[in-house]
Amino acid sequence: MRIRRLKLSGFKSFVEPTELRIEPGLTGVVGPNGCGKSNLLEAIRWVMGEGSPKSLRGDGMEDVIFAGTATRPARDFAEVSMLVDRDSDEGESGEGEVTRRIERGAGSAYRIDGRDVRAKDVALLFADAATGAHSPALVSQGKIASIIAAKPTERRLLLEEAAGISGLHARRKDAEQK
Ligand code: ATP
Ligand code: MG
Repeated sequence: MRIRRLKLSGFKSFVEPTELRIEPGLTGVVGPNGCGKSNLLEAIRWVMGEGSPKSLRGDGMEDVIFAGTATRPARDFAEVSMLVDRDSDEGESGEGEVTRRIERGAGSAYRIDGRDVRAKDVALLFADAATGAHSPALVSQGKIASIIAAKPTERRLLLEEAAGISGLHARRKDAEQK
């Protein structure tokens, strides 16, 4: 799976609608401290279903919504869309756009190619592609130190994500509940 484009609106410091194309090859994001580089990585994790506000440096999930500044009012919602190339063994291929939106007091909603879907559908889409909000490919600032200090069971989860089998666990759990 490859990320082709990211669209952000009202997400953290990206208050105005912002579009980023990610071309093949290596992409670098550079800028001064506090300009929003980490916010971009967090937007990617968020649209893939991150459920923990803490791991997005917030106290509650609504903290991802632009909170306003002295000169700009706060926003009521945040939305991130990620266009990906998905090639999976399950027959799905081609481009697909995943969107997550959060409104104050109303929680998160997800869409895939404009269709309303459950959080679980988004999680499975990324798990099948061996990626997702907890993919070891997404390394946050300060994460290396916490991996070194992790317990063996926590490291095992990391290895399962890397091996691409965490989607199978989710499906097994689902099947057991039915
Ligand atoms: P560094 O180089 O120090 O790692 P960075 O480029 O990674 O910096 P970020 O951490 O992505 O910077 O951005 C931090 C900025 O985002 C801060 O100015 C912070 O005020 C702003 N920010 C975070 N959440 C919100 C929000 N909900 N509303 C408005 N601004 C926000
Ligand atoms: Mg940073």
